[in-house]
Amino acid sequence: MSGRKDKLFKDYLHDPYFIKEKYSEPSVCERCGVVFADGIFTWVKSIPKDFPKMICPACKRIEDRFEGGIVLLSGKFLNGHKEEIINIVKNVEAYKIEKRPLERIMSIVENDSKIEIKTTYEHLARRIGEAINSAFKGELKISYPDGEKYVRVGWFRDE
Ligand SMILES: [Zn+2]
Repeated sequence: MSGRKDKLFKDYLHDPYFIKEKYSEPSVCERCGVVFADGIFTWVKSIPKDFPKMICPACKRIEDRFEGGIVLLSGKFLNGHKEEIINIVKNVEAYKIEKRPLERIMSIVENDSKIEIKTTYEHLARRIGEAINSAFKGELKISYPDGEKYVRVGWFRDE
């Protein structure tokens, strides 16, 4: 295993959604098409038809609404900037999903002065918070109330 693969594999070792399923290798997710092979989840251009089917941990989490991270954006600054902010959120996801296929946005809920984003894993939530903070400077708080597996990201800016 190469160093990168080894790290990616370790990142998901403590994922209950990874452990409880025994994925055969290779296999392909029947929902999103991600392939599990050599111990990692990866995108491949053409999937052989005889690959066994499975449902990957990301699609299962989405189905169960079992998020790995939550981002709560708040403050008056959101008024008038929501579109820009949502664009950043989606760009971060698009960038991440290439290298970490299981990192996905599960939901984006907007109301008056708040935006709530749930992600399948903690890395993506943290990256979203950092990207928004570096673009717009506010107050960023990152906490892990339940160990490394779950992150709460808060970002606030009033003006
Ligand atoms: Zn999937």
